[in-house]
Amino acid sequence: MTNLEQGMWFTEISERDGSAFSLRINKKLEVKQSPFQKVEMFETTDFGNLMVIDGCTMVSTRDNFFYHEMISHPALFTHENPKNIVIIGGGDCGTLREVLKHPSVETAQQIDIDQVVTQMSLKYFPELCESNEDPRAEIMFDDGIKFMLDAEPNSLDIIIVDSTDPIGPSEGLFNRDFYASCLNTLRPGGILVQQSESPLMHMPLLLDIRNAVRDVGFTDLQTITFPQPIYPSGLWSATLARKEGNFIGFRHEDAANLKFNTEYYNVGIHLGALSTPNFMKRAFNKR
Ligand code: SAM
Repeated sequence: MTNLEQGMWFTEISERDGSAFSLRINKKLEVKQSPFQKVEMFETTDFGNLMVIDGCTMVSTRDNFFYHEMISHPALFTHENPKNIVIIGGGDCGTLREVLKHPSVETAQQIDIDQVVTQMSLKYFPELCESNEDPRAEIMFDDGIKFMLDAEPNSLDIIIVDSTDPIGPSEGLFNRDFYASCLNTLRPGGILVQQSESPLMHMPLLLDIRNAVRDVGFTDLQTITFPQPIYPSGLWSATLARKEGNFIGFRHEDAANLKFNTEYYNVGIHLGALSTPNFMKRAFNKR
């Protein structure tokens, strides 16, 4: 048993899950209360820097690659020719960096409501921001819900919702109206990716997401899982939804001959992520 009294620890207590997760820290680096949320930065002893938003762990230097790669590459290697991408949220810029590794991408717009997140990331996670100056990238600060309502219909290939948990400013990113505007904005064959929380801890929310995207007219769904050590339970998910099409395979050949560097994603990982664990299959089938 670890004595949490010895040393300094950041602890995220998850009342709803009956669990807590701690990282040992050297010091608190910065705190900013933005108009939207409280953004805190810590230097940990073993996980590098840690960003926390409203008490919830968001990004650490050591393990963010799981999430950023898996919320991007499976969708980008599934779409036949992904050119125009929008990231809603994602203010740390890690997802943007992964998306821009794909040579087919012509435009990648990132719309986060909170400038403070990107300012902190530029300062404490510069490696995640290394593609911010890519001429294909456009970084905007606005409400993703409003952006999607105003966006041109049939203009996007992939929308990645890299949001905080569905409380506070991101609540409206998890409902039918928002998904309907995403559907309208995608081209036929387009893919919506929603970070869909922990299948172990948050199954009701995951089922709500799946039901909502199906209800608004997406024709096929695929929920993939991957590790994310600093999030509740350590097991996380993303749900992919397709407009006017099915998930039958992916660009296997391209994924097998990766032309860029990754820490986690490869063709075998992609194949494995397509296998749904039995406890999830049972929950999905109960619908
Ligand atoms: N990876 C994290 C997770 O799964 O918990 C989330 C990453 S964090 C970059 C999520 C971002 O969503 C935050 O920067 C937050 O400002 C942004 N966000 C929340 N509500 C939003 C909204 N309505 N429109 C755009 N961005 C939003």
